[in-house]
Amino acid sequence: MRKITLSNGETVEVECLSCALTSGMVNPDGGVVLETEHFHAHQDVANQIKGLIILASKRHIYGFDELTAVEQLDYVKALTRIRKAQREVLGIEHVYYFYNEDTTHHFHTWMVPRYEWMYEFGRSVESVRPSLLYAREKMNYKENIQEIKTAIQSLAKDLNK
Ligand SMILES: [Zn+2]
Repeated sequence: MRKITLSNGETVEVECLSCALTSGMVNPDGGVVLETEHFHAHQDVANQIKGLIILASKRHIYGFDELTAVEQLDYVKALTRIRKAQREVLGIEHVYYFYNEDTTHHFHTWMVPRYEWMYEFGRSVESVRPSLLYAREKMNYKENIQEIKTAIQSLAKDLNK
């Protein structure tokens, strides 16, 4: 079991955070943005960045090559729909996508919006980690959290209409 501190300050003990989230055992702040047959999307629970969505498989797998043909299709469609909503609802112009296979929890893609303030930390991929840390440590204030919650609701509304 691992102890994980969520953005709301609560601590949960889970075997796999993605399993806990996709099964509904742990509720992400703001709720689910999109749920399909094989995937589950929610605002990142650790980094306070508006529109940072995590798309996780419901199955506990690690690698892209473990996805079935049906899951592959579901994945691309879900990713595309979320990306479209990020652009249309939140005005997000660019997104960075990350997915790594040596993770402690299972298959999930980070959709990290690119904001102006991130240029302070560099131009491209090298700025991502410091930006996430900055958000985690410095953007954890009430107004920003409220703004993120409102964004989640707008995204969810658009994606589930
Ligand atoms: Zn899992």
